[in-house]
Amino acid sequence: MFRSRRYRVDNEQLVLVLTIGLVGVVIVLSSTVTFCVSGLFILGMFVISALLIRAHHRELMGSALPVDEVRTPELAQLVEGCELKLQPGPVETYVVDKDVMNAYTFGLGNPKALVLYAPLTQVMTPGELQFIIGHEMGHVALGHTWLNTIVGGLAGIPAPFGAAVVLYAAFRWWNRMCEFSADRAGLLACGDLNLAVSALVKLAAPEIRNQYDFERVLAALDAQDDAVSNRIAEAFQTHPMLIRRIDRLREYAQTEEYRALQMGVNRNVGEDRPVQATSAPAPTEAPPSAPVEQPAPTESDIPPEERWPWLKKRE
Ligand SMILES: [Zn+2]
Repeated sequence: MFRSRRYRVDNEQLVLVLTIGLVGVVIVLSSTVTFCVSGLFILGMFVISALLIRAHHRELMGSALPVDEVRTPELAQLVEGCELKLQPGPVETYVVDKDVMNAYTFGLGNPKALVLYAPLTQVMTPGELQFIIGHEMGHVALGHTWLNTIVGGLAGIPAPFGAAVVLYAAFRWWNRMCEFSADRAGLLACGDLNLAVSALVKLAAPEIRNQYDFERVLAALDAQDDAVSNRIAEAFQTHPMLIRRIDRLREYAQTEEYRALQMGVNRNVGEDRPVQATSAPAPTEAPPSAPVEQPAPTESDIPPEERWPWLKKRE
């Protein structure tokens, strides 16, 4: 049988090799460009974040009330107590007079800024405020404050849609882990699981005034994680569902590790008492989980101006 391939034109194979070689060159070049562009993008994000943070800090200096011994002695004392316990490093605390039930920290360098919105100081009891302040100081102590800016920038690099969704979800997942860690810091700062839980519940329902309200809101929060839609939505949120945060804290408060840490931080403020698994409810604040026959009057029944004299001093 006669078999020949000599009818192939002269440069056919040369052009084939050239084509494959060019594909390789284009892959190397385009990945180098992507690599460089990503690097530039991250650098750009970092610079923009730094500028935005500086501008935000300036704005805050102009409008917010700095927490100090002269203007806000009671709050300054609470902040100092939390600082002593958690040792977060340099932090400046401000109160912003805006109708938001929230607190946050920001800053790339030191000192970090801790911002409390004024309604917190009206709604929360001193112990609950310690939980909130401790939570924020936990973010500072664990580096979440600056990492959030950098990791957020990294997760925002331009990527094909599918990859962008995965990056975004991963970043949010990390955000939620940070919240659980910061809640533990809050618990260590206030030293009482009941205060920690009631602070979390009040974030969702600042209007609660008695045990009955409290149980009702807790039951509603508890029902939230039954819905599949809520669980899917949670995957893209910075904060876990409140009931999850409460459950995690309750579990953590039962551990030996918690007791050891609580004793350690308590020693920082000269308290040497052994720590119980779950502390007994404070006389002025009703236990959040155990049902009681009579709704106990809480500190919230006292007008905020009496609990927080600096609110009057501000006028
Ligand atoms: Zn947080």
